[in-house]
Amino acid sequence: MTPRIVVLSAPSGGGKTTIAKTVREQYPDRFGFSVSATTRKPRSGETEGVDYYFWKPDEFLKGVNHGKFLEHAQYGGELYGTLKSDVQQILDSGRHVLLDIEVQGAEQVRKLDPNVLTIFILPSDPRVLIRRLVERGSETPEQIQQRLERATYEIGQATEFQRWIRNDDLQEAVRAVVKAVEDRAGTVVRDRHDIAWLNSYLKQLKSEQQKG
Ligand code: 5GP
Repeated sequence: MTPRIVVLSAPSGGGKTTIAKTVREQYPDRFGFSVSATTRKPRSGETEGVDYYFWKPDEFLKGVNHGKFLEHAQYGGELYGTLKSDVQQILDSGRHVLLDIEVQGAEQVRKLDPNVLTIFILPSDPRVLIRRLVERGSETPEQIQQRLERATYEIGQATEFQRWIRNDDLQEAVRAVVKAVEDRAGTVVRDRHDIAWLNSYLKQLKSEQQKG
């Protein structure tokens, strides 16, 4: 088994964090998880070094200047980045490394590593995603609109990913990730239903945006 970087991306509410956590828990000998650095404040229940490394903006920028990041990006006004050291340590231990990152970071990793596996995750039904987007956070109409806009942008980037995994059943999604990593590097899997599904997704999200 050649250890690979596995990028999981999804719009907010897509469920990628739960999938990443479950893959790592169920297959600890095969998968490790890279803990990112971020300038955002910890949410309740989050632990330093487990969920993120919570860095001050100047610390983060110093890390950028010292070449500590494999990739980094801005999201919601905060900085997020994958540390080379974390990724290397997991690869050196012979395990695949899961990155739970947004789409701009995914693009940077794709350019750096031809062996990467990139996966985009979405619940099948756009109404499920919309409900999760609406239910998360403070729910001001402006914030909901921002999340819908961001989700629309991110789903528009899905075509850049090698796999699309529908997150309706956690165990099925976990199996799909574990199976995909065994495929030859660079393999893209799609069928025409996938394309139709993604197009209808975007239409529904846009119509929700117009309602707002
Ligand atoms: P949250 O603040 O909700 O934990 O994460 C916001 C977004 O940032 C999510 O889409 C998450 O996947 C992404 N993210 C987390 N860590 C990183 C990272 O190291 N790099 C990039 N590019 N995105 C990240």
